[in-house]
Amino acid sequence: MPGGHSQTLRPFLWRAETLYPDQEIVSRNHDGMQRYTYSEYADRTAQLANALDEYGIEEGDRVATFCWNHSRHFETYFAIPTIGAQLHTINPLLPDEHIQYIVDNADDQLVFVDQSLAPKLASAAEGAEEFEGVDFVVMGAEESDALDATPYEEFIDGHPTEYDWPEVDEEQPAGMCYTSGTTGRPKGVEYTNKMLWSHTMATLTPQGIPMADDDVIMPVVPMFHVNAWGMPFTATAAGAKHVYPGPQPDPEDIANLIQNEGVTVTAGVPTVWLGLMDYCKNNDVDLSTLDTVIVGGSAAPQSMIRWFDDRGVEVLHAWGMTEMSPIGSVSHLKADLEDADYDTQLDKRAKQGIMVPGLEFKVINEEGEQITHDGEEFGELYVRGPWVTKEYFKRPDANEEDFEDGWLKTGDVVTVDPDGYLKIVDRAKDVIKSGGEWISSVELENAIMAHDGVSEATVIGVPHEKWQERPVAFVVPVEGADRESMVDEIYDMLREDYPKWWLPDDIEFIEEVPKTATGKFSKKDLREQYSDHSLVEGNVPEDAAPDSDD
Ligand code: ADP
Repeated sequence: MPGGHSQTLRPFLWRAETLYPDQEIVSRNHDGMQRYTYSEYADRTAQLANALDEYGIEEGDRVATFCWNHSRHFETYFAIPTIGAQLHTINPLLPDEHIQYIVDNADDQLVFVDQSLAPKLASAAEGAEEFEGVDFVVMGAEESDALDATPYEEFIDGHPTEYDWPEVDEEQPAGMCYTSGTTGRPKGVEYTNKMLWSHTMATLTPQGIPMADDDVIMPVVPMFHVNAWGMPFTATAAGAKHVYPGPQPDPEDIANLIQNEGVTVTAGVPTVWLGLMDYCKNNDVDLSTLDTVIVGGSAAPQSMIRWFDDRGVEVLHAWGMTEMSPIGSVSHLKADLEDADYDTQLDKRAKQGIMVPGLEFKVINEEGEQITHDGEEFGELYVRGPWVTKEYFKRPDANEEDFEDGWLKTGDVVTVDPDGYLKIVDRAKDVIKSGGEWISSVELENAIMAHDGVSEATVIGVPHEKWQERPVAFVVPVEGADRESMVDEIYDMLREDYPKWWLPDDIEFIEEVPKTATGKFSKKDLREQYSDHSLVEGNVPEDAAPDSDD
């Protein structure tokens, strides 16, 4: 049978090269700003594919990357899957043991590594048997002091700029990413060509993350984290201009790229935008080209949505998971909410949103029954669909736990309102259970972060003899904030919206909230520190104690 009917990544590359040869790709690389066209990109991608052939990579082999967001990394995004191999992005922020485990589990033979990340990779590789026989190609440097590596430009140099891309089976994995493993060992998720194809097509629809050929797309979310939420693929499929912010961009880099390149759509976790918002306080930043900021990975606070609204920029709050390629839901306003008042709209937009077309979900309560969509009842969210994985890589133990009858159990506890908007009330393991009743740590965190003096806040459940668990809040104040009055003000704010027994038993000030390798608040460290309620200072006002008459 003649080929060309499969759902693979090849048509996206073909379309960009053929229909948009002059469209630009701009990148803040280690060796300076790089600016080239889709046409040149396609040439270099073909060179890389030929180099991979010569090295000995075959269909089905995994090839790893250990890189920030830049144009060379983007070259691997199409070259590797389009020859039928598998792009395995590794998160360089993981601890060494996790990196060793991942390289061994994925059976990586060749790793592309950034110049600036070579010392980190060298530290994981040194003396580790998991790295025996693994070769390295370094990006952005003539050579690496830290690793015995071939420079990337030398690796591809002299190879033909044409490649006869093969017919790849749509079930052939094109990519692979490990969850960060906040609990236990990281789990590998393989993305088949078909999963990435359908994820790309669905996210391009109006209720996904729409993009067009007049857009300028800048993924700040790392390309080592679920393919930068698929944006390098979607932007290519759309024929849009790409902007890559390079190694560890700070708020100034992000602001400059937005202004200089006319970015229209960008994406990242809330921490990135908090940084930009803070930077804008003291610097004159022109955000006028920006249409949309995709915020996901953790909840987008209402205050952030409002801040961008005030500057004419729409925040699209998105929810997803490594296991879902990753986009699941996006908080678009449904048509019948267009005329609702601003606060109602804001309330909806701060939720995790409505499922993008192509996915199905159900929410199961503690009794094993589906919840009512009343915005009150909650349970665990289950999902299924073409771009949701059906299993973890070589992890039957985890499969048993996280999948049921073809559904992925997300571990997220949610409500669904009558309009169908999902709201994450907690991670199943983070919900605080006080006196048999549930307290949402996420809601308390968001409520506390609404205080002007708070830069970050996180809430955990601390084991308590009588109540099983009680909430304790950890707050990072903004510079110069009056801490003493802040504690009272926070309690006053919380009292307005929440029952007394929800109020944290203590509000502690800390310098920084510990973060996971994907930039999310890590409650593990704080939990270890506060393993016993006797360690809690207990500055909760008398009338707010759970024992008081509520
Ligand atoms: P990891 O598990 O490696 O930290 P993932 O991106 O796979 O990274 O994490 C997925 C989880 O992140 C979701 O199950 C959910 O708990 C959380 N999450 C993702 N997006 C949002 C969001 N918009 N609001 C709240 N939580 C989110």
